[in-house]
Amino acid sequence: MSALPFIDLKAQYAALKPSVDARIQRVLDHGQYIMGPEVKELEDKLAAFVGTRHCITVSSGTEALLIALMALDLKPGDEVITTPFTFAATAEVIVLLGGVPVFVDIEPDTCNIDASLIAAAITSKTRAIMPVSLYGQVGDMDEINAIAAAHGLAVIEDAAQSFGASYKGRRSCGLSTFGATSFFPSKPLGCYGDGGALFTDDDGLAQAAREIRVHGQSQRYTHTRVGVGGRMDTLQCAVVLAKLERFEWEIARRLAIGARYQALLEKLPVQRLALRPDRDCVWAQFTLHVQARSQVQQRLSAAGVPTAVHYPKPLHQQPAYAQWAQGQSFPHAERAAQSVMSLPMSADLSEAQQDQVILALTQALDGLEP
Ligand SMILES: *Cc1c(COP(=O)(O)O)cnc(C)c1O
Repeated sequence: MSALPFIDLKAQYAALKPSVDARIQRVLDHGQYIMGPEVKELEDKLAAFVGTRHCITVSSGTEALLIALMALDLKPGDEVITTPFTFAATAEVIVLLGGVPVFVDIEPDTCNIDASLIAAAITSKTRAIMPVSLYGQVGDMDEINAIAAAHGLAVIEDAAQSFGASYKGRRSCGLSTFGATSFFPSKPLGCYGDGGALFTDDDGLAQAAREIRVHGQSQRYTHTRVGVGGRMDTLQCAVVLAKLERFEWEIARRLAIGARYQALLEKLPVQRLALRPDRDCVWAQFTLHVQARSQVQQRLSAAGVPTAVHYPKPLHQQPAYAQWAQGQSFPHAERAAQSVMSLPMSADLSEAQQDQVILALTQALDGLEP
């Protein structure tokens, strides 16, 4: 059996080659590499897809989070409540602006922030809540929005892993003050480099984000506020436009492949991620919990099945972020970091490939303590 790719971007390109190539060629022909027509075309299509008044494309998912906080005018010392079980970028942008990340533990079964613990973490300095829709499943946004409304806080969804996911019939990114996503190649909707987008219904915040993206300019060379160089390239927008052509199909495939993985795992001595009935998961990573993880990973690797760990250490235990946790422990995040493991996942994963993964996993688990 041949080794599987962890994420199959080559099969995706093969399927979309005519439109990707034509879209790229069109940019090369018109030559507007910065803020060319594809930027607005993509923003209009993505805003319609998500169902928000505004979409602002930016240079990465990290920049989307940063610009959202800047548009909200986060000040040094302001607190932002978030999860310790996420990629570093979530807390990084808070600290970069002089803000204070306040960590709240996760639900052990979904690995998303536990909304029932948020109210107790609010202080007079809290400005925003930043939940992460981890692995592609939105957290308890209605509950989080209600807490935020009661305390006058903004909510920024870190939707870097959940673009295309649905929550109570609405789309991820369109559920709160800001939704921020990433088009890093391996995300559910990826480009061929770095890219990202912000979504909001608030006209003033959208205007602020658009200005911050171009060095705070309200007009050319009028710097109304401090901004960043945060534009997304026209070429990368062209790639996403081409990928949008079969994105609905890809979402359906991701849901079906995820459901099939979940069913096939039922009889194995592993713990599956819990899925809430009123939302779906686009499985940016197909993640489960296993014991003796490193042994299982080694056995899978020997069988040609690549795995990954998202994430091996929660942020409150990372050297750069431990100071913000002030010695607190977050037991569910710590336990998840010990046991999570992600399996190969992409819209183009075939049933035969998936069966190969499950067979290898079954053999890898054989003889290990459950
Ligand atoms: C990927 C990711 C980011 C950062 O996105 P980039 O486009 O790589 O900057 C932020 N948060 C989470 C949860 C992510 O998975």
